[in-house]
Parts: sequence; structure tokens; C-alpha cells
Amino acid sequence: MKKTFTDFHKRPLLILGAALLATLGSAQAQTATMPPVKLEALKKELLTEIDKQQKATQQMVDMVFSFGELGFQETETSRYLTGILQKNGFKVQQGIAGVPTAWTATWGSGKPVIAIGSDIDCIPKASQKPGVAYHDPIIEGAPGHGEGHNSGVPLNITAVLALKKLMEREHLPGTLMLWPGVAEEQLGTKAYFVRDGYFKNVDACIFTHVGDNLGVSYGDVGGNGLVSVKFSFDGQAAHSAGAPWRGRSALDAVELMDIGWNFHREHMEVTQRSHYVIPDGGDQPNVVPSKASVWYYFRERTYPKIMEMYADALKMAEGATLMTKTTVTHEVLGSAWPGHMNKPIAEAMYQNIRLVGLPQWSADDQVLARATQVEMKAPKTDRRNRPIDGLATKLDSLTAPEAFSIGGGSDDIADISWNVPTVVLRYPANIPGLPGHHWSNAIAMATPIAHKGVTAGAKAEALTLLDMLVKPEVIKSAWTYFNDVQTKDTKYTPLVSATDKPAITLNQGIMAQYRPGMKKYYYNPAKYKSYLEQLGIAYPTVRPAASTPPARASGTN
Ligand SMILES: [Zn+2]
Repeated sequence: MKKTFTDFHKRPLLILGAALLATLGSAQAQTATMPPVKLEALKKELLTEIDKQQKATQQMVDMVFSFGELGFQETETSRYLTGILQKNGFKVQQGIAGVPTAWTATWGSGKPVIAIGSDIDCIPKASQKPGVAYHDPIIEGAPGHGEGHNSGVPLNITAVLALKKLMEREHLPGTLMLWPGVAEEQLGTKAYFVRDGYFKNVDACIFTHVGDNLGVSYGDVGGNGLVSVKFSFDGQAAHSAGAPWRGRSALDAVELMDIGWNFHREHMEVTQRSHYVIPDGGDQPNVVPSKASVWYYFRERTYPKIMEMYADALKMAEGATLMTKTTVTHEVLGSAWPGHMNKPIAEAMYQNIRLVGLPQWSADDQVLARATQVEMKAPKTDRRNRPIDGLATKLDSLTAPEAFSIGGGSDDIADISWNVPTVVLRYPANIPGLPGHHWSNAIAMATPIAHKGVTAGAKAEALTLLDMLVKPEVIKSAWTYFNDVQTKDTKYTPLVSATDKPAITLNQGIMAQYRPGMKKYYYNPAKYKSYLEQLGIAYPTVRPAASTPPARASGTN
């Protein structure tokens, strides 16, 4: 999948040369030499335009929040977002890579081709009323945006629609391709988008992810890659009391595999993370379970180490079958490479981040943030030793690669980053110090905190996209870094095979259970100014002072 130096540098240059000859004095020629004064003026215009779009931005953020759809089941979300893009002249291709809720939306023509993505799925059991600083689900047990993935594509749409106006008027060449991270929580699709060629002709990728500051990183970002594998054991049913000797328990095999793995942990490197759930542990105690399954995430810092864990797990599974006279099959449900982000694009983006700065938080925003931090017993400082006290008021620095990482989470944007120069823009739409993948991470996500954070992010993104369109050196140096530094010694080998398929049936059952109830709470922007208004929530809603638990003071409970 890796593009060679020659691939990139010959192909676009030939096209560029032909375009220049064909349209002498064309926009392509002008853009290469756009005077800095003109670029500054265009950037100012973009900032003003994005401020004007705040209402539309708020509606999109609130709408996707209200859909609350789990990975692979983002049907309402994708229909809504592609509808907006289609209405604005984007050409939409639905169901890419065999994933019904995945799509690309393309506008413009010629080089550069820039992919602009963000995730759209949510978290199980994270239903939460926005603007309320304690656990108060919209629907108990239902999924919700406890990761903030409702905000990223609205940000991207805000940015590209502002940019599109300007590109049309100034005749700027370039192709914008929006796309969604479907089932990011399952690390479920991006490796397939790469495998199936959707990033083949892309020159650079900007990805956006919710955060609690406006920032960007480059190099090895310190996370882990992973392979997600489900092991399904087959045994033999029997009456658990009448004829247990005739049974072969698939659940026993699951438990023995887990015991083996948990002993194995003692002898693994500190950077590993592995965890599992048992999606099927049998039906009822008096029937020996003939089928049972266990679903693992195996995470490590490098591809060879991930593959080593995977191989060890296959042995554990086989061992469990020997002990129980059962059989086993396994299926890859998702994967991600460890991330590596592009330095030249990050540097260009960081200049724009400094121009944009952090949003102006209101007193109400800060009250909600601090009450949520108290409720969640947030630590006093974050991993990088920055104080946690309300919303961020000091802009992040440009994050350099981590010299040593103890490992951590994964994001399959990494698979894109090993095929095309990529950065992830983090934008300040959430409250610092929360646990992640949790209902509390949904509290801010349909409030002015998210709305302002998305507007700030859209500005930083639009300015960077403009730089990429009018300053060819940005993408050129991005590829120099990609070829000469990033992929010099490390070659991308997909963790998914040519025959693996996206696990598109995941979460079907949960959504079937909750969607009918959730539909009643879909946002209606024709009737309500905001989702907070529709739900009748006073902003902010915090615990009365007297009932606030003395969480930080006592330290234990
Ligand atoms: Zn995420």
C-alpha cells in the first residue's frame, strides 16, 4: 500500500505540468505564487464565514448526539450527514468497503486530493442528558455519545462548506473527500478502507477527534495498535444434571482460555493491554453450553508485538480445546496499527491553531465543567502534568513524539497514517479529566462547550486545508517526511487479510432493543433552538451544593 517516492513525485508532477500547459494563467499557476497578503485575507474570510455558520454547526452536533448510534449501525447519522453534503453539491458514494453506513462525499477537481475524516459511532450504556453534571440518562442502559464522536463530522462539514465557497470564487483546484470513521470503537473499518483502495489517490488526510484542547501531534503518538479477535468454541449440549458426562462445555473452554491468558499476563511487557468480554456464555445452567465465545483486544506498541500476542492467544485457544474436547474457530473483528502522524502537516496546522486560539468559555460552561470534574473525582493533573481545573484556557503546545510510552488506547486512523500523510486535529469540545468511554464524556457534547469547540476546530481545519491548496510545499514536504522518515524502516503490513470482512452485524441487537425508544428523543431543530431546549434542561444543571459528595476531600469510598 505504501506509495513510493517515485509514485508520488512523478504522477502528480506530470498531471500538474499538463494542467499548467493546458490552462496557462490558470488558478493552478496563481495559487503556487499566492502572495502572503492575499492568503492572510482569505484566511480572515474563512474565520468570519465559520463564525457565521455557528447555528448550522450547533444543529449538526446536537442532531448526531440525539441519534446515539453504535458502531456499524450509524444509519440515521450517515443518512443525515450525507444528505447535507449532497445538498451542498458533494458527490456521495454510499456503502463503501462493504460497510452499509460508510461513505465518501467528494467535491472539487484536480490535485491535491485531501481526505477529511472523523468518527461517528458512540458508546454502549452511555446515554446521558447533556448539560447535567451527574448521571442522568435520557434512556437507562441505552447507548450514547460518551466519547464525543457526534462532533467530528459536523466540524468537517462546517470547515469544507466555508472553504468550498472560497475555492469556487477563487477558482482554486483541489478535491475534498469527506469520510466517516464507522465503528471506530470496534477499530472496525479504516484498515478495510485502505485495503479496498479508497485512499489510493489521496495526497493527505486530516482527521479530527474530540479532545479538551486545540492541538495536534506528530510522530509516534504513544498509543498501541491492536487486533480484535473473537474465539468461538463448539462443544456438545447435554442435560447438565441428567447426563453431564455426555456434554462438552464450550463455556469451560472460554474460561480455561481466559485463565491461561491471565496467567500469561505476568510474563508480558508493560506496554501490552489486553481485555476481553464474553458475548456468549451459554443459555441456562441446566444445558451444557454447546456454544460459547470470548472477544479479545490484543494491544501492543508495534506490529510484530501485536502479532506475537495474537499467536500466543491462538495457542491458548487450542490448549482450551484440548482440555475440554471442544473445537474453536476465530474471526478478526477489527484492527489498528500504532499511530504515526505527519510532522510537516502538523507544523502547518499548529500555526493555524495559534491563529484561532481557544474558545471564550462562559461562566456557565466553567460551572458545568467543574461540577462534572468533582462528580467524576477527576485527578488534579493530566498525564502531561497540566492542571485540570474547569475547561482549558491555555492552548496546547505542538506535541512531539513520546520518547517512551507505556502504551495505551488505539485508533484505526493509524492505518490511514501509514498509507497517506495524516494528522489528527484535536478540538476542545469536551471537559478535561474524565474517564473516557463513559456517560460523563457525553455531558458536554450537546452544549455550548461542544458547539464552541467545534467552531474553533473547524477554523483550524479550514485554514490548514487552504494552506494545503495554495502552498504546494506543505504536501510535498509531508511526503518527504512520510517516505524518508516515517516509513524508512517500518513498512505497513495490514493486520486484516485479503479475505477478512468488516464485522457489520456487530451491535445490531443492542440497537434493535433501544432504537425505538431513542427515536422519540431525536432532535427537532424546526421546533427547538437547541437539544438542551428540547429536553427542557436548564444550562448548566449541577447538584445542589449541600448534596455534593465530598469526593476529593475524602479520597476513598
Ligand atoms: Zn474516539
